[in-house]
Amino acid sequence: MFCYQCEQTYRSDEGAGCSGSKGMCGKDAATSDLQDVLLHVCEGIGQYLHRARALGATDVEADRFVLYAFFTTLTNVNFNAGKFVQLIAQAGEIKNRVKALYETAAAKAGKAPETLSGAATFIPAADMNGLLAQASEASVRKDAATLGEDVVGLRSLVLYGLKGVCAYAHHAEVLGEERDAIYEAVEHALDLLASEPKEIGPLLDEALALGRANFVAMEALDAANTGNFGTPEPTQVRMTPKKGKAVLVSGHDMKDLCAILEATKDKGINVYTHGELLPAHSYPKLKTYPHLAGNYGGAWQDQQKEFAEFPGPIVMTSNCLIEPQPRYRGRIFTAGPVGWPGIRHIDNGDFAIVAQAAAALPGFAEDAPEETVTIGFGRDTVLGVADKVIDAVKAGAIRHFFLVGGCDGAAPGRNYYTDFAEHAPKDTVVLTLGCGKYRFNRHDFGTIDGLPRLLDMGQCNDAYSALVVATKLAEAFGVGVNELPLSLIVSWFEQKAAAVLLTLLALGLRNVRLGPTLPAFLTPALVNVLVEKFGVLPITEAKADIEASLARAA
Ligand code: SF4
Ligand code: SF4
Repeated sequence: MFCYQCEQTYRSDEGAGCSGSKGMCGKDAATSDLQDVLLHVCEGIGQYLHRARALGATDVEADRFVLYAFFTTLTNVNFNAGKFVQLIAQAGEIKNRVKALYETAAAKAGKAPETLSGAATFIPAADMNGLLAQASEASVRKDAATLGEDVVGLRSLVLYGLKGVCAYAHHAEVLGEERDAIYEAVEHALDLLASEPKEIGPLLDEALALGRANFVAMEALDAANTGNFGTPEPTQVRMTPKKGKAVLVSGHDMKDLCAILEATKDKGINVYTHGELLPAHSYPKLKTYPHLAGNYGGAWQDQQKEFAEFPGPIVMTSNCLIEPQPRYRGRIFTAGPVGWPGIRHIDNGDFAIVAQAAAALPGFAEDAPEETVTIGFGRDTVLGVADKVIDAVKAGAIRHFFLVGGCDGAAPGRNYYTDFAEHAPKDTVVLTLGCGKYRFNRHDFGTIDGLPRLLDMGQCNDAYSALVVATKLAEAFGVGVNELPLSLIVSWFEQKAAAVLLTLLALGLRNVRLGPTLPAFLTPALVNVLVEKFGVLPITEAKADIEASLARAA
């Protein structure tokens, strides 16, 4: 195996990347290698879909499969080697189907179909051993010795950005929102990767194209969430347990959460959110379930302790799962793209078994003292008070906005984000999204002219909301977004964050502070490109970065 797609990848003096028998996330070598093979077969699908589309033929089921397949390969999503063997077999069948689609479309157009090579002609073996023997053909590093680290690193940026786009687009698709432009962009990126590009220029262009596609994916997801569940509104969420039977739902998937609320309603079972599902409490439709009782625990990296102590079943939807421990292995379920060998998986939206498990388990013996946080400052809420915000900026009451958002993780350097938020001057506002907020969202930030100083905009999936607010405020002030008194302090961990970074770069946002470490797949030369061409700034020390942001804006 070789994988360096996430921030926690193994780093040593010799370089970075998880190899050997297991990655830092707990993914074993077989699973990692099978993931590479799956993505290689998907590249072949993309080669045919890309050409078929040019002739007016599409296969939306194949596009949906690609989104799902890519999502399963993100960090902390699916660790089940057997699942990948199944997905590869399915991908092989889909490749044959879209090959026929392309050839038929070419015949109809009176053209000879191109004879493709590479991933399009790759025939996956029929069993796991055979597939593992093929994995070296699909490794991200297979051309490193001949093409060098820069090209391989940039190919990886495109591949990992594509994973993020697919994850966001899949979230939207399951809620009924699809965009043809996303499928077209995904097919284009797959086709480019399948061509084994050797030049920096086309790869950089593709990375930016994916950033633009990701903006469309995030817009679709925003439409999916608000269309299904209403517009988020400021909401106080209980962060401590109530007496009674309980279910814990983690991950990002609000459709699954809604189905679990339905399956448990009127049964005397309280449903708690965990991690990135905290923002669910701000959606009007989800709030109508009185047994959506509160949030339990914090960000993903604390789950092994928190899940062990939770007295009911746990459902992990989408990312980020870490190895289930013996104390809760028997009462954790996975859903959607997530999986772990031996853990029960629910793929049909029927969570009756979860309700049964909750009824059979003890639940909380008593109420804990009530503690709350306020969430729900999505784009409509913030723009609803735009006049007040603009007046406060003009009067000098608000000097600056900091968007301190993104993923959390276990690395010690992540205290930077706590320090940053807590040391932001009293005349500044902190916007946040993603699970990184758990580092500081119980801190009392106070208010400015009645406006809370900490505005929680939602999941990492809600980055679109932040971009809309920034764009509208820039319009209101008659300046470009880069001239706003706004600094972006982005914490990355996995590939959704890589896609969001590409979106920020594609939209021309400069001075994005990125940390806690720079991606290992970006070589010094590639980092220089990001720094010089896009103004990306590696984080340094919180107080120094606050001062530098304020000085730049002054
Ligand atoms: S996902 Fe991250 S931790 Fe897991 S194998 Fe890849 S780089 Fe390593
Ligand atoms: S914000 Fe990132 S790290 Fe946190 S749960 Fe979501 S995907 Fe995982």
